[in-house]
Formats: sequence, C-alpha cells, structure tokens
Amino acid sequence: MSPPRNPNGFAHNPLDRSAHHRTDPDWIAQRLGDPSSLVVPFWRAMPLIVKLPDGRDTGWLRPSLLPSALAGEATLVFLGVEKDIAYFALDVSDMADPEREGPLAGLGRFEELRAIAPELHRAEASILAQAKSLIDWHARHRFCAQCGARTVLADAGYKRTCSACEAQHFPRTDPVVITLATREGRCLLGRGPKWPDGFFSALAGFVEPGETIEQAAAREIFEETQVRVENVRIFASQPWPYPSSLMIGCFAEAASEAITVDGIEIAEARWFDRASVAAALEGRSDVLRTPPPLAIAHQLLRVWIAEAG
Ligand SMILES: [Zn+2]
Repeated sequence: MSPPRNPNGFAHNPLDRSAHHRTDPDWIAQRLGDPSSLVVPFWRAMPLIVKLPDGRDTGWLRPSLLPSALAGEATLVFLGVEKDIAYFALDVSDMADPEREGPLAGLGRFEELRAIAPELHRAEASILAQAKSLIDWHARHRFCAQCGARTVLADAGYKRTCSACEAQHFPRTDPVVITLATREGRCLLGRGPKWPDGFFSALAGFVEPGETIEQAAAREIFEETQVRVENVRIFASQPWPYPSSLMIGCFAEAASEAITVDGIEIAEARWFDRASVAAALEGRSDVLRTPPPLAIAHQLLRVWIAEAG
C-alpha cells in the first residue's frame, strides 16, 4: 500500500544535520564567519521570503548581513550542512519592524509558513519546518520547567540549560496520529466544530503517554465517533511545524458503522464513497471539501483512491 517515496509536505529535508558539530563552538563560529554560509531570519515565527523573477523563495542571507543580530542575544540555531554549505536560522523577533528598518529592510517579507509552503520547493519548505519548530521552541522555553530560573541556549540550538539547577531541556516533538478508517469501499471523515460546512478530514489526535500509535488511532476514532477500528497500519509520517507535531498517518479497518459524534472535537462525521472523495480531491465536488496536498490527510485519501485501481 505504501508508495515508494514519502509524498508528504515538510518531509523532504535534504540537510545533513551534522549533530557532532553542535557541541563544537569553534566550528560553529568559523562557519558563521564563512561567507558561503546561509542564515534565514524568522520574525514572530515567520520566515523571510524573497521575490524572484520566477516565484518566491526562502530569504537565505549571508551571515555578514546580520552582524549585530548575530553578536547579540538573539536565538541562532544550526540547521545542517548541504554541499559543504552550513545553514542557520536566526530569530529576529526583538526587532520592531524588520521589513522596513535595520539590515533586513527591503529584502523581503515575513510570511506564514503554512501559506507560503505550497509555493516553495519541497526541500525548502522542509528546512523551514525544522527551523520554525526550533525557533518556536526556544521562544517558549526561556524558563526552567524544574525550578523556574532562566535557561540559556546550548548545543547550537538543540538544548537549553538551566542557569540555576543545570537541568537540560531538549526540543520536543509531539506525535499526532491521523487515521483514515475504511469499511466496504467507504471511508470515515469528520468535521471539526470550527471548520466550514462541507470540509472534512481524517480523524486525528495526540498520542498520549503510555500508548502505542495503533492504540491512539483506535482510541481517537472511538472517542470522536464511537466507531470501532482494527488492523491499524502506519502509512507515513510528516513533520507539521504548528508548532512541533509529527503527524503519523495510518489506515485502519472499521469494525462497526454507526456514528455518534462527541460534539466537542468533532461536530459531524460521515462515511464517504470513493467517487465522492475523488471528486473532492480534484476540486469538483459541490458538497465535500478535503485538505490540500500539503496535508497528510490529502495523501491518505489519494492512496486509498489509488488502491481501488
Ligand atoms: Zn532549573
């Protein structure tokens, strides 16, 4: 059932993360002084995007363009290396209006990654997903969860250390299971209470402590719809940097059909046949809309349609 390559957005990061360099401050400093290195600024969790003659692209800058920011307290993370070029991300959120003032003025615009991602090369979008999750984690973990004292960035952005109790804190990734349950040529989709009428997706929820991915898939579907599923199979996964989820796409076989929605996480759930879903994926349905290609739910639906031949 699995296609040969992962079809999901944000899943094609080409960088060699070179973790062994993170604990080598001399190497990091040398690369930040190297004019071939590239830094993408983030402002309020949005990457710098530049306009090119043939579209838009990541605003990769030479480190020399950012001297004052690099010398200060701003969060700087090492992303990895490709073709001997080192890539970094820098949080410039302390600047009031970097699009118009300071060294970045006039270079581009800070854009929401989710909005711009479909326009970017999938490798670029994937690198920005890594950068966004890391930058966001630093912004929200300035104080120690153990004692409340200030934490400081370490290991080129892959750790924060408490200045008082020396506890070490690491960037987190939150697993979310998203499952397409099927039964006799139909699939089960739900609509969240704040979603527009007619917009449906596969059912999803966070994996809880002490739970397997398969158990989480079955629990979420039962909680939201009272449908029982079995034979949960993992399809593929996808980094989802809002702020730091890992979407784990699954298929499951439904053992029951009757739907009772919880009314909280899900306002409405229905069984849809392949013809209805195929029309929605192609944007020619008047009654059903489904997530865009960037989302793993879209890919789950595509694989299910293709499976029927
Ligand atoms: Zn502490």
